[in-house]
Amino acid sequence: VFIAFEGGEGAGKTTQARLAAIWLRDHGYDVVTTHEPGATKIGMRLRAMLLDRDTTGLSDRAESLLYAADRADHVANVIKPAIERGVIVVSDRYVDSSLAYQGFGRQQAVEDIARVNAWATGGLVPDLTVLLEVPPQTGLGRLSAPADRIESESQEFHERVRAGFRALAEADPDRYLILDASRPQGELSREIQYRIREILPD
Ligand code: C5P
Ligand code: MG
Repeated sequence: VFIAFEGGEGAGKTTQARLAAIWLRDHGYDVVTTHEPGATKIGMRLRAMLLDRDTTGLSDRAESLLYAADRADHVANVIKPAIERGVIVVSDRYVDSSLAYQGFGRQQAVEDIARVNAWATGGLVPDLTVLLEVPPQTGLGRLSAPADRIESESQEFHERVRAGFRALAEADPDRYLILDASRPQGELSREIQYRIREILPD
């Protein structure tokens, strides 16, 4: 079982992914929690390059390829081996982040980003994707350490990212749970648990 958490800055993905993992472990499941970018050794180097894009002038296409490279390594070295061991994988971000940020956000062809990522991941798609939706101003305001983030992007960029995530989720409602991330944390985690229950093996 593979569950991804997606959404913009400060939506609470990390928190909800962690709460979901705790709940699953309490119910006796083996869980691996992971994140993008930067979950592997190479991924950590790629993450440093990606977050330094403003000082290096990293081009948009190269950025997309580096995210895809990070993801390819993540799938090959973390996600797939865990799934094959029968472990539940919970990831903070996955392919949709690239479709939303590099596709919708940077206005590169979303089909191209999708194709590169389908190849990078060998076509691995989550069983469930939880989309935590938050207006960009609210999300950015929640961040405690904005230095580590792409907070320098325009409001329009973040609006496109948000609309992109939403469009992806609405195109495939069976595979997504869309939640208003401004709701109380406890309510959100309970809704997520109900939905996860539906996809668990007995
Ligand atoms: O989720 P996390 O805060 O670790 O992401 C690090 C930064 O990378 C964020 O600012 C996020 O906006 C950015 N990012 C991106 N494109 C992706 C994934 C993350 O621009 N595909
Ligand atoms: Mg986070």
